[in-house]
Amino acid sequence: MQPQNFVILGGGISGLTAAWYLARNAPSSTKITLLEASNRFGGWIQSTRVGEERILFEQGPRTLRPSGLGAYIILDMAAKLNLTGFIHAVGKYEPAAKNRYLYYPDRLIQLPGGGFLPGLKSIVQNKFILSSLYSVIREPFIKPLKNLDDESIHDFISRRFNSTLADTLMSALVHGIYAGDAKKLSIKSTFKQIFDMEQIYGSVIKGTINSRKLSTLSQKDQNWLNLLCEENKDLFAFMSTTSLYSFANGIEQLVHAIVNDLKVRENVTIKTSHHVKELKFDKEIEICTNDGTFRADHIISTIPSHELACLLPELPYLTYNPSVTVAVVNIAYGRQNLLPVKGFGYLIPHITPNNPYHVLGVVFDSDAMPHQDYKKDKYTKLTVMMGGHYYNDLSENDYPNKDELLSQAVETIEKQLGVYSTPLQCMAKVHRKCIPQYYVGHYSRMKELHYAIKKKYGKRLSVGGASYFGVSINDCVTNSARLALDLLMNNDEKVTVTGLEGVEGN
Ligand SMILES: Cc1cc2nc3c(=O)[nH]c(=O)nc-3n(C[C@H](O)[C@H](O)[C@H](O)COP(=O)(O)OP(=O)(O)OC[C@H]3O[C@@H](n4cnc5c(N)ncnc54)[C@H](O)[C@@H]3O)c2cc1C
Repeated sequence: MQPQNFVILGGGISGLTAAWYLARNAPSSTKITLLEASNRFGGWIQSTRVGEERILFEQGPRTLRPSGLGAYIILDMAAKLNLTGFIHAVGKYEPAAKNRYLYYPDRLIQLPGGGFLPGLKSIVQNKFILSSLYSVIREPFIKPLKNLDDESIHDFISRRFNSTLADTLMSALVHGIYAGDAKKLSIKSTFKQIFDMEQIYGSVIKGTINSRKLSTLSQKDQNWLNLLCEENKDLFAFMSTTSLYSFANGIEQLVHAIVNDLKVRENVTIKTSHHVKELKFDKEIEICTNDGTFRADHIISTIPSHELACLLPELPYLTYNPSVTVAVVNIAYGRQNLLPVKGFGYLIPHITPNNPYHVLGVVFDSDAMPHQDYKKDKYTKLTVMMGGHYYNDLSENDYPNKDELLSQAVETIEKQLGVYSTPLQCMAKVHRKCIPQYYVGHYSRMKELHYAIKKKYGKRLSVGGASYFGVSINDCVTNSARLALDLLMNNDEKVTVTGLEGVEGN
């Protein structure tokens, strides 16, 4: 029998998506309650307008990818929430889509992909790109390690390609997505498609060629995707010509639209300032917060796994992976076109010398999302991201304060981009424990967790959110939507849904 009374822990994008999918698909007699500890919804998604100019600063995520199942789920949500008119998309041939850079060793290097001539120029001028290209040509002839359980991203890329590629491009990419250390993160849990290519095709390059012909989706997901495509033909056709998107008022506009939609539903209650402190599993489940007790017959936890560990300490591995702390500094200068190049921004690999402030990368917001500010073409807007795994050894009191972060970011922009100007507006924040790090062996640990939840809390607890299978918003939304639908469609007494079913196959 389906649960009748759901309580969702956490009001970030994962919790909100789970609530929204349940609300749209469950019978109206089903009660849905969402409890959020802080005084706002959205979790790491925070879009803020500052100053007289109302300049938009994204303190968390800033752009979404319009491809893959997760993208189609979000775009379908956007359509149903009347947000399509607010989508701001970057076309595939615009500079922000084509031009990406590395800062290494002491200058910006354009990555191949931004057109034939710039690509050729950077290959000729940079030995490390040439050596990486050579390793790509050689890769299909390297013997695969069959039945590999897992490996770090750095080890995998060094083995299949070469250590130069692992130390430069891959380490920078890992800084951009996870703010993490490629030597510690699991290839299987972060770039599963690449891991699978070696196992299935014996080579990443052969896998890339073949995967164009094969869908990586299960039949169930493919059917879901087909349904979404049928309902949103025009929108999806338009989005297929784009490479990035957000909304007029930033990513948080999606959060507000979901929250407003949930607020008017009679069977849904959503609460901020309700920190869940204790869970008691009896005949019913009792959820104790700082502001009252709630009852449920099923809990969906989307809070970070280290928070869930405080509530259910007997479950294994919830605290195994750390989450890194990232400092985000948003800066707007009062003049446009101050940057030496146009593009999405640049990432800094771990081997770049002279990186005293541990900068992970810089996003050129005014190129990446040029139309979100009311006064167009007036500003040069950047975000400097610092810290991540480099901050791992710092204790609470050691993080730089706001003024220090700002001067570190300004100095970085002067030195690396040659922009010597006084910021018109700025904002600096340290996001503590904001991105979970899937260390080597994560997949196997999640398998154990899955069976432990089944055994101890079968049919009463499911988990979702960035701690488990993907940190991107596309992943978080896909996992929560799938979890909600699985819980509602599953009437079989014997089948339990933990949210970690992905580990059952291999
Ligand atoms: C700086 C930064 C930049 C990023 N950039 C991008 C990007 O460009 N594109 C992209 O796709 N992704 C990006 N991400 C990743 C993405 O934003 C996050 O992974 C995603 O928002 C996580 O959502 P979530 O709902 O799973 O978790 P969270 O956002 O962490 O939400 C969990 C919620 O649970 C609440 N909570 C915790 N404990 C309790 C408790 N005991 N009781 C009740 N509530 C509780 C928290 O207050 C929080 O609101 C970025 C992340 C960061 C930090």
